[in-house]
Amino acid sequence: MANSPGAQSTVGVLPGDDAAPEAVHASMTVLQAMELPIGFEVLPDGADFAARMSREEGTQLVIDTAERCDTVLFGSTNGQTPGVGYFRWGKQTFANVRPIKWRPGFRSPMAQPEGIDYIIVRENLEDLYAGIEGDLSEVAASGLADRPRFGGVSRTQVPGGFSHFAEAEGRYAIKYFTRANVERVAHFACRLAQQRKAEGYPGKLTCSAKTNVLSRTDGWFVEIAAEVASGYSDVEFESFIADDFARRLVASPHDLDVVLLPNLYGDIFSDEGAGTIGGLGLAPSGCFGEDWAYFESVHGTAPDIAGMHRINPTATMLSAVMMLHHLGHHDQASALESAIDAVYAEGQTLTPDQGGSASTEDFAQAVIDALP
Ligand code: ATP
Repeated sequence: MANSPGAQSTVGVLPGDDAAPEAVHASMTVLQAMELPIGFEVLPDGADFAARMSREEGTQLVIDTAERCDTVLFGSTNGQTPGVGYFRWGKQTFANVRPIKWRPGFRSPMAQPEGIDYIIVRENLEDLYAGIEGDLSEVAASGLADRPRFGGVSRTQVPGGFSHFAEAEGRYAIKYFTRANVERVAHFACRLAQQRKAEGYPGKLTCSAKTNVLSRTDGWFVEIAAEVASGYSDVEFESFIADDFARRLVASPHDLDVVLLPNLYGDIFSDEGAGTIGGLGLAPSGCFGEDWAYFESVHGTAPDIAGMHRINPTATMLSAVMMLHHLGHHDQASALESAIDAVYAEGQTLTPDQGGSASTEDFAQAVIDALP
């Protein structure tokens, strides 16, 4: 599809799988109604890729779209949509920015959701997401299991030593970080804290990982973050062990400003954070590299509600708000955000996850009607 005449930006749209395309297509009706200076290139839904082209052709189409477009608005995948990993690893989008902000009308389970307003920066490339897994016998063969200590005790204190690494049926996965990548995501989080401080937020960076158990990986991640943060005299730094931090996300979310987390904890804790403001249907995200970014909701493909037209498109629309800011269309971003806020403030056209009976498309129409 060619750019619209006079287009200033080009956005690739990848709807994704299961219920995600319903949220993306509803969001697109809103974006199209805004008459933005953007040319949209809408790719097939996941289910249509296989019918229309080979996996290799689909992957190439997605890669070409990422290379050609200024950014991408993406639904979510269950693996059916090809090529999506290119957005992250191919384009090196190392910082996954996930704002957790309660807005009036969001159906939060918290007694006092007012003022919950922080941003999770999730390291997006490393950690367990490398997907390096295998049989435990490989660990035995590598000699790694011959280390003198395991689980905090010495080899002699474990019945049978560590022979099970060679003999038992078992699996492993590799968790890893590199200094350069942790440093760049920590700098990103510090700069974000600085920007927010200029807007009146506290200017605080909170970092968390399982530092006590995994001192050489998680502990190192937090050490590097602290080192980097020490170079930003206007940014306050604090850290908590991951299990304690999980509790704090619920007990004292108002204390948070910018939160830096390794990949896996960032994934899990952002779902928890979304839960505190009212659910996965409300949490947007953007994945930023040095020179390219793409935008998608925090939630997955919501397979249990696929085809029911009840998926809440708010997370996708708020991701589009982030995208519009990224493209420099700040006024249009604010207009879309205000329209979404107006629909929640009015509370008459909400999807079932928010206690309403509106369909995904009804909600989108209400947002269109609320646009200035
Ligand atoms: P992933 O691990 O792929 O990121 P996830 O755990 O973040 O997935 P889903 O598996 O998509 O999220 O959904 C978890 C639950 O939340 C499901 O019951 C799903 O229907 C619900 N859910 C997710 N997104 C939405 C939404 N936008 N509107 C309504 N319900 C949603």
